[in-house]
Amino acid sequence: MNVMTASVALNDGRTPAQAGAQGNERDAGSPVRTDWTRTEIADLFDLPFDELMFRAQTVHRAHHAIGQVQLCTLLSIKTGGCPEDCGYCSQSASADTQLKAEKLMEVQAVLASAAEAKAAGSQRFCMGAAWRNPKDRDMDAVIAMVEGVRAMGMETCMTLGMLTPDQAQRLAAAGLDYYNHNIDTSPENYANIISTRSFEDRLDTLAHVRAAGINVCSGGIVGLGETRSDRVGFVHALATLPRHPESVPVNALVPVKGTVLGNMLADTPLAKIDDIEFVRTVAVARITMPLSMVRLSAGRESMSDATQALCFMAGANSIFTGDQLLTTGNAGDDADAALLAKLGMTPMVGEEPMRRSSCC
Ligand code: SF4
Repeated sequence: MNVMTASVALNDGRTPAQAGAQGNERDAGSPVRTDWTRTEIADLFDLPFDELMFRAQTVHRAHHAIGQVQLCTLLSIKTGGCPEDCGYCSQSASADTQLKAEKLMEVQAVLASAAEAKAAGSQRFCMGAAWRNPKDRDMDAVIAMVEGVRAMGMETCMTLGMLTPDQAQRLAAAGLDYYNHNIDTSPENYANIISTRSFEDRLDTLAHVRAAGINVCSGGIVGLGETRSDRVGFVHALATLPRHPESVPVNALVPVKGTVLGNMLADTPLAKIDDIEFVRTVAVARITMPLSMVRLSAGRESMSDATQALCFMAGANSIFTGDQLLTTGNAGDDADAALLAKLGMTPMVGEEPMRRSSCC
């Protein structure tokens, strides 16, 4: 739906499609690699900060619009009571957060929220449900939401938990643009954070989404008490997928009392990921997944303007807007507008590089 503007032409004169050939193998001349080793990624993390930022900014400028940030809005369409036990999440039924389990929102209420988001400048409307997986009885309503939001001229994204191949196909037929399914952390650390599903379960759903032709949004959370090596493993898992996710959300844990990780980390020095380490993670994601949109997600409201500016320098080019993420606070539209104005940056108007170069 978006028109590519001249400002997003690549600096080396190639078209994004020429630069963005993307597949399982490393094409000669393509900037995209899916054969990264952990050693290479660890070496990037270890670079002197100025060198890391220079490399990330160089990659960013070759493939993305300069000075533009994509605005996305997230709505919780079904809150709380989730049977999964993600240690960071206040919506888990196992968390002691007093969050009331709600039913799936009515389609018309979702569409009203989408209209508000569009009026506030959002390009994409993301809908999240606290489910292990959608039940087949929920699919008609979910599909009506996708169709309704698309009819407003916005991009659609959903996060509904694990999908069967058939559910992915139905969402694709409805025109769903993106499906979010985070890998959360490194394969080794996964069982420390979640016990009700496995890392492989996540990869299976990502494969179903890809097979259905839906764009993939997948990232994770840093600040879970993980090691640098886990952050290397997290980026490595994404950067070696058969095809990089079109969107890579990088969250900083927001410790919520009553959740396993909130109780464990809230009063410790580990409670907040070090800002520089967070920026390094963004930069390494940018370098290893050059065409992906790298999104600042949860945790942004507690970051200083300077840290967010460093994240943009490191290659982040998408943010969630609005006062609320699924259940945690967010920076808010006014704060975002003020930050972008201060930085001389503007909401994105062009199409994403991987959408332009997509073969599906
Ligand atoms: S992160 Fe998602 S799957 Fe995990 S408990 Fe929260 S709502 Fe459920």
